[in-house]
Amino acid sequence: MANIRDLTDLPLKGKKVLMRVDFNVPFTQEGQISDDSRIVATLPSIHYVLDQGGALILMSHLGRPKGKPATEFSLAPVAKCLSEKLQRPVIFAPDAVGSDVENLIKDVEPGQIVLLENLRFHPGEEKPEAYPQFAKELAKYGDVYVNDAFGTAHRPHASVYALPLLFKGKAAAGFLMEKEIQFLGEALLSPIRPFVAMLGGAKLSTKLGVVKALLQKADALLIGGGMSYTFFKAQGLPIGDSIHEDDFLPACLEILELSKAKGKALLLPEDIVIAQTVRSGAPYQTIDIKHGIPDGWQGVDIGPKTISRFTEELKKAKTVFWNGPMGVFEVPEFAAGTDAIARQMADLQAVTVIGGGDSIAAVKAAGVADQIHHISTGGGASLEFIEQGTLPGLEALI
Ligand code: AMP
Repeated sequence: MANIRDLTDLPLKGKKVLMRVDFNVPFTQEGQISDDSRIVATLPSIHYVLDQGGALILMSHLGRPKGKPATEFSLAPVAKCLSEKLQRPVIFAPDAVGSDVENLIKDVEPGQIVLLENLRFHPGEEKPEAYPQFAKELAKYGDVYVNDAFGTAHRPHASVYALPLLFKGKAAAGFLMEKEIQFLGEALLSPIRPFVAMLGGAKLSTKLGVVKALLQKADALLIGGGMSYTFFKAQGLPIGDSIHEDDFLPACLEILELSKAKGKALLLPEDIVIAQTVRSGAPYQTIDIKHGIPDGWQGVDIGPKTISRFTEELKKAKTVFWNGPMGVFEVPEFAAGTDAIARQMADLQAVTVIGGGDSIAAVKAAGVADQIHHISTGGGASLEFIEQGTLPGLEALI
């Protein structure tokens, strides 16, 4: 997006740089960070600000503490991890706002880094309209504002939307954000054709907007995973106990009609792995979907015929976007479809883009993540960007 400033457009020397990052990392049951990729992804912007002689005030959310402090959602372990990665001290502020934090930041010198405690410990982060003071408090800490948190750019929260509006002309996208919008913008909004999009995951309701948008933008749409059963039910097929959303049956019919009217290929699974329960060790078998799914069984993965058919379509593509698993891939017996698709993505002669935690986990598990052109750090954000062509967090930077 041409009218958004990047880090290199901001004066940084001697400035306090207030930077929104996405340090919403996963933890093990023992409280260790299990995947630090979100921290690593922000390092280029952090290094750049420090090298230019700026001081950094970093802010992030972690989990869903619902507007109240909660030890299990503290960013303290992240401050430690970041300090190890940077090989320099990271000052951890005990809160996101308040007079103690203000005093601490007043004395920060160029080259120093402060990480604020979880923004979502305050209700003002998620409800900026009800608590406008929260963004104003945060605004006191910085001379300039940077957003490098693509993963939350679709949420109009205080640190993402209200805050940059207080930095008119002094707000910019960080390098990670810039890379995301460049890639998603170029690859998916003006794709090299044919453009094939593949969607899976549990529910249609959460992805309806993007299904409709991709039906317009893509040349073919492949739908697998839990959301395909609502389509089958809408077409009158018995789906047994499979996951589905009755409220979305009319939407499925509308999408099927639209694909016909536009002459676009919309592929649903032809064969399905069904199981009596979604549990490792449960009896399972592969069936042809045209006979429907018997009572007492539920669809849990795509079958081999569908894998071949989807592969055939993917091979024709010059651009491919994938979001959402093809089945309940957390259960090893039902992961074959998602795994096969992940491997296929790596073999394609196309620009390949993946968004969404589960699809990323699948390419990582298959050991092929480094063969994908762009792995978006934001699942929801990448879908909303495709749907709307912009995001609240980007609009606020203009
Ligand atoms: P989403 O966040 O909407 O992309 O959904 C991801 C979840 O969808 C994963 O946890 C999968 O286990 C689940 N999922 C995929 N296929 C199915 C299915 N056939 N039945 C139930 N859950 C599914």
